Amino acid sequence: MARSEAILHPVKNIHGGATLAHYKNTAESVSAVMPAPAQVVIAMQQHIGAPCTPLVKKGDTVYVGTKIGDSDKYISAPIHSSVSGTVTGLGSLLLPSGQTVETVIIESDGQMTPDPDIKPPVVETAEDLVKATRDSGLVGLGGAGFPSHVKLTMNPEKPIDTLIVNGAECEPFITSDYRESVENTENILEGILFLKKLLGIKNAIIAVENNKPKSISMMHSVIENVLGDKMSLDVTDDEKTQALYKIASDERDVDNTIQLMRLKSRYPQGAEKVIIYTTTGRKLPLGKLPSDVGCLVMNITSISVLNKYIKTGMPLVARTVTVDGGAIREPKNVVVPIGTSIADVIEFCGGYKAPARKILYGGPMMGNAVIDVNMPILKQNNAILALDRKQAEKRVESPCIRCGRCAKACPMNLQPLEIESQLRIGNIEAVKALYVEYCMECGSCSFVCPAKRHLTQVMRMAKAEVKNLK
Ligand code: SF4
Ligand code: SF4
Repeated sequence: MARSEAILHPVKNIHGGATLAHYKNTAESVSAVMPAPAQVVIAMQQHIGAPCTPLVKKGDTVYVGTKIGDSDKYISAPIHSSVSGTVTGLGSLLLPSGQTVETVIIESDGQMTPDPDIKPPVVETAEDLVKATRDSGLVGLGGAGFPSHVKLTMNPEKPIDTLIVNGAECEPFITSDYRESVENTENILEGILFLKKLLGIKNAIIAVENNKPKSISMMHSVIENVLGDKMSLDVTDDEKTQALYKIASDERDVDNTIQLMRLKSRYPQGAEKVIIYTTTGRKLPLGKLPSDVGCLVMNITSISVLNKYIKTGMPLVARTVTVDGGAIREPKNVVVPIGTSIADVIEFCGGYKAPARKILYGGPMMGNAVIDVNMPILKQNNAILALDRKQAEKRVESPCIRCGRCAKACPMNLQPLEIESQLRIGNIEAVKALYVEYCMECGSCSFVCPAKRHLTQVMRMAKAEVKNLK
């Protein structure tokens, strides 16, 4: 393996954002596999796009991986049983988003028997890959829930030159992506190489925040072991934490690279627009997709799950969830069958050690409050946080002191204070002119505000008002 001169990466610093306490208490918690729950309630919509229609009825026998819901719409993803057992009925569920969706309720036989029809897919072309991804039921596992096959459908008019593997995991508490990156490093690399090859993408950037050095060093070792003589390493100024590998494999040219990029640990580093900018320097305009700037952004766990599907044919039926918060007795990472109730997951983590004042699907910055612990785990849930009294303390607002911190913290360069003022007087045209549609509801403005103003909720309302203008 040859080493050449240092390479400077096109890394841009995140604009604004917030420095948060990490609270990554579960980082060293090896993912524990949860046994079969007695029952799962599987929502027919666990993704952005069209809901699925149930394909099973009361009394049907299902296995782990049996398809139980699908849609003929392009932006949707099929849904599979996460246990073996019997369908006991169909129901409905009110999601935290306010949407009511159908559910399939399955009583588990406790055996977790795989569907006998499951076999690895044949994936030789880009079209095969898109079909396999759809069949796997994969959606963005970092929280977005966008159907992955849609992302992987290449548009010849918008060539992709960079695959960004998003391992930033910038929200406090959550460590599920980190665990995937250290427990399944080789599988992730295989997935990256497979995507690069089939989709013809020259460069891959594996982007990880600098509070996860183990993730980067393990990826280093695996790249060197797997690629061996097929690549050379151009080491950066910070050897072994940032590196650019040039892969000289038979079918690729010299631009075929894998970059390990260490990002500053600053929220919201993992947001799609932000990570495109910090890793490539490209700005994603409003209403445009990453493909418009030559990028494909995939969550690191999504790549791992896709590669496992390609090897085994077992669709997305379980996922790793970080269970943490001051009310949880034994915080840990748990591999949970989709559709398991939050109550069962918390029970598996030793139950409560203090009264839970607030339970969140996801992290403290962008997570949604849960009103019922019988709610099921969805595909896109990377964390369950049960906050104790102190953590859930209500933010009491006081008048704005016009300090400007909210504007300074906004990664999208917005003026939350001005937007709030214009919204209050009902000047929606002015709100629109302040580019509120760029707001990604990251919560940084609220977090830094000394007056504890509920700016993120205001931004959400302002966006809805602007939408109504159209
Ligand atoms: S951070 Fe809060 S107090 Fe400061 S200008 Fe913004 S809204 Fe006002
Ligand atoms: S205005 Fe929106 S994007 Fe900007 S900091 Fe606030 S929530 Fe984040």
